[in-house]
Amino acid sequence: MKKIVIGILAHVDSGKTTLTESMLLKSGDIRKAGRVDHRDTFLDTNEIERERGITIFSKQAVMHTPLCEITILDTPGHVDFSAEAERVLSVLDYAILVISASEGVQSHTETLWRLLAKYDVPTFVVVNKMDLALSQKAEIIGNIKAELSDNIVDFSDENFSEEILDELSVCTEGLMNEYLSENKVSEKEIQRAVSSRQLFPCFFGSALKHEGTDKIISGLLKYTEEKVYPKEFGARVFKISDDGKGTRLTHLKITGGTLKVKDEVKGKSDWSEKINQIRIYSGEKYETPEELEAGAVCAVTGLSKTFSGEGLGIEINLESPVLEPVLSYKVVLPESVNIRDALIKLKRLEEEEPQLKIAWKEELSEIHIMLMGEVQLEIVKRLIKSKFDIDAEFGEGTISYKETVADKVLGIGHFEPLRHYAEVHLLVEPLKAGSGIKFESALSFDELDRSWQRLIMTHLSEKTHIGVLTGSPITDVKITLTGGRAHKKHTEGGDFRQATYRAVRNALMKAKSVLLEPRYDFKMTVPNENVGRALNDLSMMGARFSSSHLSGEMSVISGNASVSKMRGYQKELISYTSGRGRLFCVSSGYEPADDADEIIQRIGYNPERDTENSPDSVFCSHGAGFTVKWDEVENYADVEITFETEEELAKRVTENAKRLSERPKIEASDKELMAIFERTYGEIKAPKIEGARIVKAKEEIPERYIKPKKIKKYDKDYLLVDGYNIIHAWEDLKKLTLDSLDVARDKLIDILCNYSGYTGCETIVVFDAYKVKGSRGEVEKINNINVVYTKEAETADMYIEKVSRKLSVNNRVRVATSDGLEQLIILGAGALRVSAESFKKEVDDAILKIREMID
Ligand code: GDP
Repeated sequence: MKKIVIGILAHVDSGKTTLTESMLLKSGDIRKAGRVDHRDTFLDTNEIERERGITIFSKQAVMHTPLCEITILDTPGHVDFSAEAERVLSVLDYAILVISASEGVQSHTETLWRLLAKYDVPTFVVVNKMDLALSQKAEIIGNIKAELSDNIVDFSDENFSEEILDELSVCTEGLMNEYLSENKVSEKEIQRAVSSRQLFPCFFGSALKHEGTDKIISGLLKYTEEKVYPKEFGARVFKISDDGKGTRLTHLKITGGTLKVKDEVKGKSDWSEKINQIRIYSGEKYETPEELEAGAVCAVTGLSKTFSGEGLGIEINLESPVLEPVLSYKVVLPESVNIRDALIKLKRLEEEEPQLKIAWKEELSEIHIMLMGEVQLEIVKRLIKSKFDIDAEFGEGTISYKETVADKVLGIGHFEPLRHYAEVHLLVEPLKAGSGIKFESALSFDELDRSWQRLIMTHLSEKTHIGVLTGSPITDVKITLTGGRAHKKHTEGGDFRQATYRAVRNALMKAKSVLLEPRYDFKMTVPNENVGRALNDLSMMGARFSSSHLSGEMSVISGNASVSKMRGYQKELISYTSGRGRLFCVSSGYEPADDADEIIQRIGYNPERDTENSPDSVFCSHGAGFTVKWDEVENYADVEITFETEEELAKRVTENAKRLSERPKIEASDKELMAIFERTYGEIKAPKIEGARIVKAKEEIPERYIKPKKIKKYDKDYLLVDGYNIIHAWEDLKKLTLDSLDVARDKLIDILCNYSGYTGCETIVVFDAYKVKGSRGEVEKINNINVVYTKEAETADMYIEKVSRKLSVNNRVRVATSDGLEQLIILGAGALRVSAESFKKEVDDAILKIREMID
């Protein structure tokens, strides 16, 4: 049976929960729909969620149909909870993006759309609340297309009209071919287009009234493909939770092989544990199967070390979420509570909710909690109360800043107290915004032994390196190991840690540092009479505006502003609009801070006093260690400082990444020997690859680790010919038009059949029929070429532009024409242009060759 996992995503309040219920009701999996408004829905089981009427924690429900089992994962809708939604995205086969007909595309819808693209999730669009819609379907879908994608196509009528067929045919080449040859499109080809995210079917409905739900379900059944999984076991963890009775649950999707109760599962960080129970949840109830196959989503008990985003078996770990907490609050506990005990409990909460970060500030003996936005605070407070019975309060929030560098610098760390030795050279350089930190090695194993190199890589990735301006974490930098030395006798493990940390700080002291602050994309809805005030406030905040428009009595303003200026504004907005204004914020990443000097001064960090993070080095002379200040270290270094060219450095890095990631191989002939050896001495483990986060080139990752990509099978040569344009440009044909246009046209078609047969390219010749009243557009296959007559109000160049834009994504597309304006447009669409004149030469040449062959 086909099994698929679907996520339902939406801007809060669009009707996600109501739609899920409506679908479950229609499939017969529940008998009566709860109403969000009555606080008794199937999925919103958490008390806080019920009270607030919003979905915060993701739940699961299983929908059974005769031919397909659909697991629906409910995803958090509120902006503050996007990190968790992101984890869920990584296990989805398909997504349904719900858009409210009365609101249209909202700021969070756009963020979700971007994330769906990032995680490559094929998507169906559902326009809900059609009972409240003020405009017609066509207008609504037009607006959605303009904001999200041209390839969103109305699927509300199962019998596709000519117009819809036309829209479908430009989505993929497969659809185009079918349409050209048969004037219809197949289910299979639509499935393919949906899977490769080149087509997004759009349905309309009213979940509250259960209208349109049947069509959505049948659309899902018809246009989704069954997935193929590898045989070897693999799984991706997308959530950790507690079942309410103190049992730790690991929620995962099996992405390879089968999972059985009592199976031993291996994580990437070298642990292995047994599965106690497999649970398939549906709302709050669950079944406990003994065994599950790839493609299924379940929760398992018995695993204590898993974390959200982890890959088990053959599956790789997920990168950290794009969205990360930007605000930090001190946790204030009642006096009776032991702070260390509370820390342990809060750390448990962090495991469950990856969007929360709990930090222990040693120097202050304080617990800090990092969040995406202020709305989350209240919820966390309630969670702490209900889970641990602790009444926590929060101090005033501070912004989480970051730092990066603006130039490329070499940092050196040397650590040599008596009978110790290690030296490390690191090149630190800026990366583009949003890249995070990358580590590489440019050293051969002759220059520094493999094991030392791995150790340095581990030390680089194990620590949050902090900048020298404010002591905030550094980001968007690449750190390359360019030199290092160990001592045969005296080097111990810890020595390289010291040298590595010092080298990083040494580089940062020398570099030009930049303070980064987090920003929000915001969308604000205010009553028209308050627009002046709102705009004024926003300009005072230094906000960048992206758009604003009227929507009845309200105005919608969107843009981007710094978190420091924007936070807390919600309260103000609510007060001056008497509760009618609304503000939605989504973090948009980090940018150089506006008032950097002021912030740096306020924080008052002194890097040279930070003894925990020293940029200085320790050398040895006459049997005693002495400290060398950071700006002098270069003069004392043992390893020669060589600056290679960029290309040499890059080459060494690639070679090395490969070598470092290689595991020693056991030859087949050695296997028997190995077995005897193991029987005698126990299992021999391959050396662990310490978390060396070396950036690998794609092709070096074993194939099974890569998420199966949709294979682009199209790779053809296309020739688009502007028919009448060529006829008028070629003298011979032009002469024929004096007799009849039809004769000239037939002649051109004849020539193109020969040319196409000889060169093997796919030819489409387009003739304007746009002035022909009532022309519906027509496609004809003549021998081996396609002849298109445009429909009324569509010129040949409009058609060519549209088609070449689509085709040139995966193909070489050439367009034969001599029309000036068209040339510009075609080049813009990524197609190559051939002038009428040089095309004539090509054609003559081909005819000559054909004659030669015949002779
Ligand atoms: P979610 O936050 O996206 O999960 O949205 P909910 O399912 O909680 O719905 C939000 C509100 O919209 C609730 O008051 C629902 O009753 C209401 N709602 C949902 N679907 C429809 C619909 O099709 N028509 C109307 N008029 N209201 C709806």
